[in-house]
Amino acid sequence: ITSKQPNVGTTIFTVMSQLAAETGALNLSQGFPNYNCSPKLIELVNHYMQKGMNQYAPMAGIMPLREILAQKTADLYNLHYHPNDEITIVSGCTEAIYATMAAILHKGDEVIVFEPAYDSYVPSIELNGGKAVYVTLTAENDFTINWEVVKSKITERTKAIMLTTPHNPTGKCLTQDDLNKLAEIVRDTNIFIVSDEVYEHIIFDNRQHLSPAMHPELKERTFLCGSFGKTFHTTGWKLGYCLAPKELTAEFRKTHQWITFASPTPMQYAFADFMKDPNNYLSVRAFYEEKRNKFINWLKGSRFTWKPAEGSFFQMVSYNQITDESDYDLAVRWTKEIGVASIPISVFYNERYDNKILRFCFAKDDETLEKAAERLCKL
Ligand code: GLN
Repeated sequence: ITSKQPNVGTTIFTVMSQLAAETGALNLSQGFPNYNCSPKLIELVNHYMQKGMNQYAPMAGIMPLREILAQKTADLYNLHYHPNDEITIVSGCTEAIYATMAAILHKGDEVIVFEPAYDSYVPSIELNGGKAVYVTLTAENDFTINWEVVKSKITERTKAIMLTTPHNPTGKCLTQDDLNKLAEIVRDTNIFIVSDEVYEHIIFDNRQHLSPAMHPELKERTFLCGSFGKTFHTTGWKLGYCLAPKELTAEFRKTHQWITFASPTPMQYAFADFMKDPNNYLSVRAFYEEKRNKFINWLKGSRFTWKPAEGSFFQMVSYNQITDESDYDLAVRWTKEIGVASIPISVFYNERYDNKILRFCFAKDDETLEKAAERLCKL
């Protein structure tokens, strides 16, 4: 077989989780909770399975779930999407992004990608005939976006700009100023915005989640891609969604129907019920803020340095006061020697830019976090 992705190997998440399992290390690498979701949610899935909701869901998702999402998005963000033709339930945000790229890209189209970039973005672009154009963000500039640089990368082939807020792996959140500058740049163009917002509810220190779709000039061109997995501790259920204006949704659904066609039915009914109580998704903010605070408190006294994550369930820490080894080698070595697995952030750069930073996932029970911090404090 002639590989279509000759440079693609196993994802770093699989590599590090496997290494952690083999060595018995505490796994703060791959982003998933090591505790269970709400028993109520499991009961609901069970209930709907017993009731016989075990066949294909409608291609666009079950209506009650689309309705509750429409309501949530209107209540929280004053953003209005019609459940009929502007909301689609898919198999995880990774599918939402892939289906969007498949829907919008023609051969040779360019997509602006900010790096560090979550690892599925570029393959989703390239497998659909597009080309990633990188804007590099570094620790030196606190991973903030210089919109002048973005502007300079726009060509007549630019089809979309890929955004993530809160960002993985940096935890950075877009600000109103970012959105205003973005709006200025894309005004009078046909450029789409693809926005990965899977951590929308995991945002700290009283920050407001700002989706590009919340800017009045940007909504019409935005594919808002979200997920249930991070919010409800159900990453393995692989359920997400795409919110987009009618015309965009029509094209999105054409690709979604050939990728997975539809997504698991009983889970969709369970979420539709569970989300009737807004506290079931709003409570995750305080839950993770406490975890972030505990983790960084336990790291006090170590030789690491950090800025508290603005959002997401990842904390980046700099280790340049400890060693100048590459982040990749270090992540592997410390998994084996210290027994704490992390993700080196250079893997999220096209050219493996090394900020000397590791990403730790704090979606873990307190005992694991405390034990990991204790080991890290000895370094
Ligand atoms: N989103 C998760 C992370 O960033 C990983 C998902 C995956 O393993 N593909 O760690």
